Amino acid sequence: MEKTEKTVEQRLASLHKLQSVDSKLDEIKKMRGALPDEVRDLEDEIAKFETRISKFQNEVKDFEQDIENRKQRKKEAEKLIGKYKEQQMKVRNDREFQAIAKEIESEDLEIQLSEKRMREATDKITRKKTDIDSVNEQLKDLQSTLATKRIELKNLLEESEEEEAKLLKEREKQTKNIEERLVRSYDRLRGNAANGLAVVMVKRDACGGCFHVVPPQRQVEIKEKKKIIVCEHCGRVFAGVEDVVIPVVEPKKATRKIGSKTKDEVEEI
Ligand SMILES: [Zn+2]
Repeated sequence: MEKTEKTVEQRLASLHKLQSVDSKLDEIKKMRGALPDEVRDLEDEIAKFETRISKFQNEVKDFEQDIENRKQRKKEAEKLIGKYKEQQMKVRNDREFQAIAKEIESEDLEIQLSEKRMREATDKITRKKTDIDSVNEQLKDLQSTLATKRIELKNLLEESEEEEAKLLKEREKQTKNIEERLVRSYDRLRGNAANGLAVVMVKRDACGGCFHVVPPQRQVEIKEKKKIIVCEHCGRVFAGVEDVVIPVVEPKKATRKIGSKTKDEVEEI
C-alpha cells in the first residue's frame, strides 16, 4: 500500500504538514537565537588567544637561549683575556705586547657587546611576559564567558531537544509521502524565502507568502487539488484556500482586486 502513488491532495497535505513542522523547527532555532554562533565565535577567539600566548612563550624561550649563548661567549672572552694577560708577562718586545693588547681589547669589546645584548634580551623578556599576562587576563575572561554560554546553550538545547526530535521524526514521515523532486524544490523555495515559507494557504484572496492577489478562477483550481499550483509571483506552493477570514495587518505593497469586496473591506484598503 505504501508504494502506491499518492494523490495530489495527499501530497499537498503532506507538504503542508512538512511546512508546519519546518516552521516549528525554525521557531526552535530562533529561540536558541545567536547562542550557538556566540559559543562557536568564542571558541575561535580563545584558540587565537592561546596561539598568541604560545607564540609569545616561544619568543621568550628564544631570548633566554640568546642570553645563555651570550653568557657563554662572555665567559670565553674572560678566559681568553686571562690567558692573554699571562702571555703579556712573557713577551720579549713591545711589538708582541701591543699585539696581545689588541686581542685583549677585542675580547673586552666582545664582553661589553654580550652584556648589552643580555640587557636587551632581558628587557624584551620582561615586556613579553607583560604581554603574556595581559593576553592571559583576556583569555580568562573569554573562558569564563564561554563557560556561562555553554551552560545556557546546554539548558536551552535540553529544553527543546525532545520536541526537536519529535519534529524531525514527523518531518521524515511526511517527506516519504512526497516525491524527491518535489521535496528538493520545497527545500529550495524555503531556502530562498526570508520567512521560511514554501507552502502557503490563500488568505483573503492573496498568497499567504508574498501577499499578491490570487485570481478567483485560480482559487477554484487550488481548492480542487487536482494538481500542484504555485504562486505566479513567488513560486510558493498553495496548499489550499483558507475559508475563515482572519484579520491580518495589510502588507504595504499588496495589490488587490476589489471586484467582489464588501464596502467595508474596500474602505479598509
Ligand atoms: Zn506568492
